[in-house]
Amino acid sequence: MRILIVEDEKKVASFIKKGLEEEYFAVDIAYDGKEGLKLITSEEYDVIIMDIMLPYLDGISLIKEIRNRNILTPVLMLTVKDSLNDKVEGLNSGADDYLTKPFAFEELLARLRALLRRNEKSKTSILKVGDLVLDLQSHKVLRNNQEIILTPKEYSILEYLMRNSNKVISRTKLIEHVYDYHFDTETNIIDVYINKVRTKIDNNFDKPLIHTIRGIGYILKESD
Ligand code: CA
Repeated sequence: MRILIVEDEKKVASFIKKGLEEEYFAVDIAYDGKEGLKLITSEEYDVIIMDIMLPYLDGISLIKEIRNRNILTPVLMLTVKDSLNDKVEGLNSGADDYLTKPFAFEELLARLRALLRRNEKSKTSILKVGDLVLDLQSHKVLRNNQEIILTPKEYSILEYLMRNSNKVISRTKLIEHVYDYHFDTETNIIDVYINKVRTKIDNNFDKPLIHTIRGIGYILKESD
C-alpha cells in the first residue's frame, strides 16, 4: 500500500517514512501544501498523513481542496497543539482521523491500519483467499498452513492483490500502489516480481490463485 506524508518538518517526515517502509509501505513525502496537492492529484495513495501547519497551503485548506475535487483518500491529520479547535476544524474539513504530536509510531501505525481497513469487508488484520492467508501485523504468509517467505516488495504486491481479490488489477494500478514516486514505470519489473510471487504462492499447489489477464494485468482469485 502507498502512503503520502505531507509534512514540512523534515525530521518528523523521515522518521515516519522510515518506520512505514519497515512495515512494507511505499512512501512519498511532500514538504509543503502545494507539493502535497500536486502529488495527491497526480498519484494514487491509499492513505495520506497530513500536518496542519504547512508552508504555501495549510492542511485544512489542502483537505478542503482535495475533497472539493472529489478525492476521497483517507486522511490522518497531525496536529501540534492539543487544541480542540484544530481537531474539530480538521474533521469538519474532511479528515478521517487525527493524531496529536508528539506521538508514538505504534499509535500512528494502528490508526493507519484502521483507515486502510475501513473500505474492506474484513475488520481483522488477516487477509484470506482460499487457503492463502496473510497476516498484516506479523507479515507472515501461509498457504495450506505452510509458511511462505516473501521479500518486502513481493509481500506488498501480494497484499495489494489480496486486498483486491476477485478484481482485475492493471499493471499501472499495481505499480501505483506498491512503488513510490521515484519508480520508473517504463520497466517491466512488475512482471518479474509477479512471477516471483507466483512461483512461491502457486507452484507446488493444486490450484493457482494468481491469474494473468492478457494485455491488462492480474487477478487473484480461487480457481473454479
Ligand atoms: Ca508543520
